[in-house]
Amino acid sequence: MSKFLKECYSTLDAYVPGEQPKDGEYIKLNTNESPFPPSSGVINAVNSQEVKKLRLYSDPTGAALKQKIAALYGVKENNVYLANGSDDILNFSFMAFSGDKGSAVYPQISYGFYKVFAALYGISAEEIPLKDDFSIDYRDYLNKNKFIVIANPNAPTGLCLPLSEIEEIIKSNSENVVVIDEAYVDFGGESAIPLTKKYDNLLVCQTFSKSRSMAGARLGFAIGNEALIADLELIKYSTNPYNINRLTLIAGAAAIDDDEYYRNNCKEIIKNREYTVNALKKLGFRVIDSRANFIFAESDRIDGETLYKRLKEERILVRHFSTEKIVNFNRITIGTMEQMQQFIKTVEKILEEVK
Ligand SMILES: *Cc1c(COP(=O)(O)O)cnc(C)c1O
Repeated sequence: MSKFLKECYSTLDAYVPGEQPKDGEYIKLNTNESPFPPSSGVINAVNSQEVKKLRLYSDPTGAALKQKIAALYGVKENNVYLANGSDDILNFSFMAFSGDKGSAVYPQISYGFYKVFAALYGISAEEIPLKDDFSIDYRDYLNKNKFIVIANPNAPTGLCLPLSEIEEIIKSNSENVVVIDEAYVDFGGESAIPLTKKYDNLLVCQTFSKSRSMAGARLGFAIGNEALIADLELIKYSTNPYNINRLTLIAGAAAIDDDEYYRNNCKEIIKNREYTVNALKKLGFRVIDSRANFIFAESDRIDGETLYKRLKEERILVRHFSTEKIVNFNRITIGTMEQMQQFIKTVEKILEEVK
């Protein structure tokens, strides 16, 4: 750290991304990426003609992509905000919507970045514990009169809140923004997008990183009331108007055109998830009921960290958090059926060793 860094940043605990190993091949089940490639439409759209155009700035309005997203989700273009990954939307939301005194509410066990953004902006955060079964009790979020962020499905548990409960939270906090982070909604959740027509304080954010196989392209979007979207645009044009590069804008539009391909991939992931859950349960694991492209599991036959380390030696990466209450768990991204069969076979072998 240099002597020039502002003091308020010197104590930041930055987000720690999952490992992206460089020492050869792994079965990579640790960062919730898709095991499937982008659609052929995306692969063809990002061609040498488009690469040649990289000398030109990208369209700062993202009009063509906004149009497609708006049509797909049944909203207007001015209800859509495009971002360089949905992390950027969360960033701007903590920056812009946490109130003049700066406060935020989110679940204590959830996406690790919420805590980081709160610290970045000096926001006083109320982290609400999950219930013993890891579920969110929506009643804990009623009448908070503070900026609220909830991942639905939640990470790393995969559990969902029903839309009726989400609506109660939105309704009872009408003077504050409620962000519903739907990074995993395509794997079996129910989207709150229709509620954006009814409530001006709801912002729904989604990403192309998981269900649309484009984590490396960095593309996220938010849907909400046009005034909220205008606020996000204001921040964007005050920081980085060309926040999405040309190739990503084109790839995103092609991905929306190939929506059916991605829906089928999601069905495949759901099928592979069911296979993995059943197989782990047969081995005595406790598995939380997931509606995401990952599962969260623990066993009393082996502790979470040991299992993570042994799997890594077997060249299978999963995600282990050393956070209290969940240290015995591992989060396992759902890959192809072949990968999941290999994973289960390896877990069986490891369990044999520790018997
Ligand atoms: C992956 C993830 C994001 C970030 O997605 P990007 O679009 O890749 O920035 C946001 N929220 C949750 C809960 C996630 O798991």
